[in-house]
Amino acid sequence: MEKLDSFNPRTGGLIGSVVTTEPEEIPGIVEQSRAAFNRWSATGHEERRRHLKAFKRVLLDNMDRLAEMLHEETGKDRADACVGDVNPAISLVDYYSRKAEKLLQPRRAATRPMIMTRGWTEYHPRGVVAVIPAYNFPLLLTLVSVVPALAAGCSVILKPSELTPLTGQLIGDLFHEAGIPADLVQVIQGGAATGAALVGADVDLVVFTGSPGTGRKVAQEAVGKLTPTILELGGKDAMIVLEDADVIHAARGAVWGSTLNAGQVCISVERVYVVEAVAQPFLEEMERAMDEVTAGTNDRRDIGAIIDPQQMEILNSHVADALSKGATLRRGGHEVTSTSGSFYAPTMLTDVDHSMKVMTEETFGPVVAVMQVPDEETAIHLANDSRYGLHGSVWSKDKRRAAAVASRLHTGTVAINDHMINLYVPALPFGGVKDSGYGVEAGPEGIRSFCYTQSFTSPRWMSTSRLLLGGRWNPRRFGPRYWRNFARLLYRW
Ligand code: NAD
Repeated sequence: MEKLDSFNPRTGGLIGSVVTTEPEEIPGIVEQSRAAFNRWSATGHEERRRHLKAFKRVLLDNMDRLAEMLHEETGKDRADACVGDVNPAISLVDYYSRKAEKLLQPRRAATRPMIMTRGWTEYHPRGVVAVIPAYNFPLLLTLVSVVPALAAGCSVILKPSELTPLTGQLIGDLFHEAGIPADLVQVIQGGAATGAALVGADVDLVVFTGSPGTGRKVAQEAVGKLTPTILELGGKDAMIVLEDADVIHAARGAVWGSTLNAGQVCISVERVYVVEAVAQPFLEEMERAMDEVTAGTNDRRDIGAIIDPQQMEILNSHVADALSKGATLRRGGHEVTSTSGSFYAPTMLTDVDHSMKVMTEETFGPVVAVMQVPDEETAIHLANDSRYGLHGSVWSKDKRRAAAVASRLHTGTVAINDHMINLYVPALPFGGVKDSGYGVEAGPEGIRSFCYTQSFTSPRWMSTSRLLLGGRWNPRRFGPRYWRNFARLLYRW
């Protein structure tokens, strides 16, 4: 039996190990999951709600344990673990435990022009769902899929990131503690080979969160079996600061939004476009705020560790590339080697442009690049000049103006005068466009993603075919001219 070790990114020390799932074991696991699905999907909303409420209570009782595990396995500060992972995860469970039944009620359809027919749609659970999350928010990214999947009536096979296997195991244990049957949420362990074997297995939906490169592989693997996928991929989120913004608040937001979880957030602030008129005070305040955060995990100034040591190479190369092309380093720009763990200094760059990787490729670390722009129009153009489209923010005291700018950003979500607040609004769908993926999680769409729709028609009092065609049921006999006139009559207005 092969083992998968989990290391603490703050210290480099071994925390624990799990047994790796061999690809050959996966068909049997899927079979068990299908049996669990058959039982679970036959239960009603009431029973599912009861289980989800029990799970919510278990989460509330285990917040410290979860924050401690996240702190150990991802090196994030315990408060960051609550703010970014535990609290929004609980809010999500709360939302679906209260709303699932309503969101999955059959929906009546307007049947014009076939007004003699009633129409409606029902939502039915898809079946066995494979969930493959990234390592940066191992709790939230898991529950955002597993909870609506269960609420919809699906069973789940979870493969946590190989960097956070113990958090994955703990999540499985907490589900079971809440009375969710062991075969309904199964946790398998391993890296790319295990993930690929799961995607290629006889599952009914794959929800993948990770990099665009792996996302493409997952989509290619799944398409062979025509398995539907939801892909939540990377981001290169832009922040637009207009000349009428509250610059102090915006500058502090830029620093928080780029350093939370050491910048390892798909919706972190990676690039800022600030209108020249307010650039000076904005940059000065950003520098002050930057001086209040440090690379570490021991006190309230600390931004946390770099979870994947291989990410360090990307951070160094993006900063070096920017500096070689004329960027100015205002803060940071280096690894912090005074500890045995893996840390990167909070980094701020200015005099940047779109020839630099730091403005075009996902950096996924505590690095923020600020570009001065003459006006709003240029800011919008540059923000959209990206292969990514996940999240963004617009800062202006004029909320109508900010909303107009926000709706011109080609992204799945936008925050006005805020960052990432959508994490706390589970009723809002979340998902990206372009290389940031497709499909949505959270909100009404987020639970319907775990269902297939079945649409029905039924005569109101006599079937339309009998009414129009009489007993002979041969529309061909009227000839094409009749049907052309029929269309003109129905659709002229
Ligand atoms: P990754 O793509 O390296 O891995 C993600 C998961 O895929 C892991 O569990 C991994 O074991 C698995 N995997 C690897 N190869 C596979 C294969 N061939 N088939 C199936 N599974 C496979 O991503 P990561 O490094 O863990 O996470 C960082 C990335 O995730 C960043 O790009 C970040 O922006 C993105 N992310 C996106 C969101 C979002 O909601 N859009 C949220 C968080 C992170």
